[in-house]
Order: sequence, then structure tokens, then C-alpha cells
Amino acid sequence: MSRIAYVNGRYVPHGSAMVHVEDRAYQFADGVYEVCEVFGGRLVDETRHLDRLDRSLRELRIPAPMDRRALLTVMRETVARNRVRDGLVYLQVSRGVARRDHPFPDPPPAPALVVTAKSLSAAAGDKAAASGVSVITVPETRWARPDIKSVSLLPNVLAKQQAKEAGAREAWFVDPEGRVLEGSSTNAWIVTHDGKVVTRQADTHILRGVTRAAVSDLIGRRNLTLEERAFTVEEAKAAAEAFITSASSLVIPVVRIDGAPVADGQPGPVATALRKGIHDVTEMSHVVTPPFV
Ligand code: PMP
Repeated sequence: MSRIAYVNGRYVPHGSAMVHVEDRAYQFADGVYEVCEVFGGRLVDETRHLDRLDRSLRELRIPAPMDRRALLTVMRETVARNRVRDGLVYLQVSRGVARRDHPFPDPPPAPALVVTAKSLSAAAGDKAAASGVSVITVPETRWARPDIKSVSLLPNVLAKQQAKEAGAREAWFVDPEGRVLEGSSTNAWIVTHDGKVVTRQADTHILRGVTRAAVSDLIGRRNLTLEERAFTVEEAKAAAEAFITSASSLVIPVVRIDGAPVADGQPGPVATALRKGIHDVTEMSHVVTPPFV
């Protein structure tokens, strides 16, 4: 079945889905995005994703391309048209198309909206989680506002490539004091030997992950202790467990950091239980893509 993309008001075949050469996201990375999980034909945590989108847009003074109800309709329609049961819906808003010049165009153009959806194998994620993954650590090289989900991802791309070339799944950005910030596309967590689940406080230096919020809810539900504070690479290497979270990979145990095993080098019980329980606490939309017959 051929893929369909939504581009500025039209559903078009993926192969001919185009944006203008003077789209500001293309020339200046002047745009923001969201990636929302699709699970069993339902959108997961759409409210949190759209709240974060609103915030990113507000911080960059890009107007919303349409109201929330309309945006949700487009996201769900794109998922349905691509017959995605398990996968992702991607949404990008740029400041729009204008003759190239750094300041905001005046008068402002209409913001440009692109939505795509793709299927992912749930089994592949489960397999990675069952064996655990490796991470490497890299110095923080991003701008000072990674809390804004901008499409300016070059440092993340370079870090992820470095991880891949090192045989690792993820790269953790580390600040000059040796504290772990987050992964190139995931939030970073550890479990201490006395059972506390630790993730860095969500200030302007990391993205406030939607999965991070869901895992925090689940930790509360399971009567575990959550600590939102910085932790160092040394503390992570000596921890009982480590794991990463994102909408596209949910919860994945980390079993090696910079080549050194975390604890016994096996996925830990807390990360494994959090992965299993994550959809108990997430918001689920109605079924957008019905089961195939
Ligand atoms: N940090 C970064 C830098 C990311 O790109 C992502 C993925 N969007 C995350 C964290 C995880 O966020 P979420 O749980 O909302 O996918």
C-alpha cells in the first residue's frame, strides 16, 4: 500500500510530497515537530504531545497552523490513510515560506504543516528491550534551548551516528560537569541500588519527554520513588539499572555505558516492569486504524 502525507492542506502520495525551497524549516531549521506513538491503531498521549507543540510554537512565536481539533483530525486521518496500527505519526510546523532573510518575515506567512505516519515493528522494539542496548557518552554540543522541540537536530544526528559507529543504540549528552543531560532522541534514567528511579529535572537543558511524563506517572502508581535530579556518568555506570525513554522506543534498558556493563549487564527488573506497564497510564485515543481483516 502506498504511503500518504499531509502537506499544507492536502493529502498527497508520499513520493510527491514536497515543501517549497524557501520553507524556513528547510533553510533555517525555523520550525518545530512532534512524534507521537500509534499503538493498536490509537494515538498515545496526544494531549501531552499537542501541549508540548503549543509550548514550542509559543517559545518561537510561530502561530499555530490550525486549532487543536483540526490538527488532531489531520493526525488521525494521516494515521488511518497509512493504515498504521503500530508506529509513529510525525508532525512538523515551520514558520512558513518567505524570501530568504534571517528576521521573521513581515507580514508573517502562513505556518507550513506537514504530517506523515509510518508503521514500526513492535517485535523489533521488544527484541531490543529484551537484550538491552548500549549507550555512549558525548559532550553537549547543542544550543541552550533543547527544551524547545525544534527541527534543528544536527548535533543529535552527529551524536546518533557516532553511537551507531561505536555499535551503540544511543548517545547521552553530558554537560561540562560530567552530568548526563539526555540522549540524542531519548530521556536518560538510572535506578539506584536502594531502588530510587532517577532522571534529570526537566529545565531548559533537556526535552520534557512525553514518555518521561508517562513513566513518572507509572512510578507513582507502582509506589516507587522518583528523584528528578542530575546524575553523573560515574553514578550511571555504577547504578543498579539504566534505561532510556521515548515515544518511538518506549522504555529500553541500557546494559552498557561507554563499553562498561551496568550491574550484571542484563536488563533490570524496574526498567522491564516500566516498559510492560507504560500503556496502563498513557492516554489512548479512539481506534483510528481498525484491525485489518
Ligand atoms: N529527548 C530528545 C532530544 C528527543 O528528541 C526525544 C524524542 N522526541 C526525547 C527526549 C523523548 O521524548 P518523547 O518521550 O516525548 O518522545
